[in-house]
Formats: sequence, C-alpha cells, structure tokens
Amino acid sequence: MEERLYIKPILSGKADKRPLIIAGPCSAESEEQVIATALELAGEGRTDIFRAGVWKPRTRPGSFEGAGEDALPWIANAALKTGIPAAIEIAAPKHAEIALKHNINIFWLGARTVVNPFLVQDLADALKGNDVAVMVKNPVNPDLNLWIGAIERLHDAGIHRLAAIHRGFSHFESAPLRNKPLWEIPISLKRQFKNLPVFTDPSHICGNRSMLQDIAQKALDLEMDGLMVETHCNPDAALTDAAQQVNPQALSALLNSLTIRSAYAEQSFEHLVAPLRAIIDEKDQELLNVLSSRFSAVEAIGKLKD
Ligand code: PEP
Ligand code: MN
Repeated sequence: MEERLYIKPILSGKADKRPLIIAGPCSAESEEQVIATALELAGEGRTDIFRAGVWKPRTRPGSFEGAGEDALPWIANAALKTGIPAAIEIAAPKHAEIALKHNINIFWLGARTVVNPFLVQDLADALKGNDVAVMVKNPVNPDLNLWIGAIERLHDAGIHRLAAIHRGFSHFESAPLRNKPLWEIPISLKRQFKNLPVFTDPSHICGNRSMLQDIAQKALDLEMDGLMVETHCNPDAALTDAAQQVNPQALSALLNSLTIRSAYAEQSFEHLVAPLRAIIDEKDQELLNVLSSRFSAVEAIGKLKD
C-alpha cells in the first residue's frame, strides 16, 4: 500500500542527483580538520552534501562529546569556501535554533533521537516555518512505524524536503557488522513511500572500513537513493568512529568501485528478486552468528568441566 507524502528535493532548486553523496567527518573536531576535510572532498568533486557532527551522542560519558556551538562557524565557513551545502545532526530544539542562526539548514535526526516521539515532535515544532531539509535516520531498534512516524511528524510541520537514512539496527550478539542492516525494513519503507528518498549510511552499518564497499554496493543494488559515508582528512586520528572513517581519496576509490545501475524496470526480474536475495544473504549470516554464539557457550561449559 502506498501512502502519500508531499516530498521536495533535499537540495532546493533542482532534482536530487542519484545516488546523492553525503560525506564528511563523524565529528567536527577543530576548524583545521573541518576545513581540510571539506576542501579535500571538494577537490575530489563527488560530494553533494558535507556532513559533520557537532553534538555527539556517546553511549557512555567520559569521551569527546563534540565541539558544540563552537563548530558551527567552522562548518558554515567550509560550506562557503567549497560551495557544498552542510548538514549537521540536531537532537534538541536549541541545536536547531542556533544552527539556523549560522545559516545551516540541512539537518539529520540521529538514530537515538528518532526512538523518542516527544523529542521528534519538539524538533519538528522548532523547525516549523523555516526552509530546511531534514534526513531522518532509522531508530536504533527495528521499528518501521517509529521511523515513519518521525518522518510524518516533520511532514505535518510543513517540512517537505525530507529523506530517510538507513544506518542499521543495534544488536547484542557479536557479529561482523556494527549494526544489522535488516534490509527488509528500508525496502518496505521505499515501497510504502515511493517518492521518499532513502539513503544508506554504510559507515554506521559496518563500524569498519573493510566492509563499506560491500554494503554500499548492496544499497545501490536495492535502488537506494544515496550514500552517507563518514570521511575524515586523517581517519586514524579521528576522535569518534575512527575505525569506520575513510579519507576523501579513499571515498573516491570506493565510489569508483561501485556499479551504479540505472533504475530497474518496475516489474523486472532483478527489481523483484534483488530485495529477496538481500534478505536471504542476511538471514544466512544471522544463522552463522547464532551458531557461533551457541558454539562459544558450549565451549565455555566444556572449559568449566576441565
Ligand atoms: C552519526 O551520523 O555520526 C551518528 C551519530 O549516527 P547514528 O545516529 O546513526 O548513530
Ligand atoms: Mn559516527
């Protein structure tokens, strides 16, 4: 069943490119790091939106929580210098208000924010009446309606430059990926809202560099509309998410390695079968993970008996 959302391109004035590329560091760390990363990305010529995290949602206290308000002029300046529009994460109405004062008007809502309808509503109210674009990440838990609900709250506040970002779902068991893709969820979102762009964030799905290519290719094979890839001028020295960030040159190499197919015909075999293949591959991996956790528990009992 298709529902209706009135959607305008994320970048005002023209239809969004496919795939749209969003790149930039997990966190804005210093003016030098923000400007150097943005200039290198501009030099590579692949980035449509420059991302940088300003207030970082850290799982436990005691580590870098973002540069905060100080980072806003750095990011605004990077956008001016490169001509690439900038996007930041907002997680509180105050974030939205001060970002707008710095002429930043593309935002994303993070996975930990989207789980909370009260907060999403407060953010929608804070943005109401402003010409902004908002990209809504999936909630950390695999709840499609919670994700849709957040998009609808923004839509009902008159925000029509909207997109979704698929960043995977958290899990407890040990697995090669940081967050489970659960591809059936973004596929189902695309089916319900045919005109809503859905981007994939392979960085937060993978948690490491080695699997980025695989996940990015799968996203394109499933006709996702863009990619958000965390990119840092010196990834190993990054203050957050160092293991998953790439440098701007590696981003270009990654993008060059991807096969970008033109959209499949609606009823073609590939259009129908690619989502099913993705689900089967993921279930196979889950089976292996479950068997390996079971094996570890059995082995631990064996050791206790020794
Ligand atoms: C991020 O994009 O840096 C981030 C914190 O993402 P998520 O909300 O997907 O964890
Ligand atoms: Mn990150």
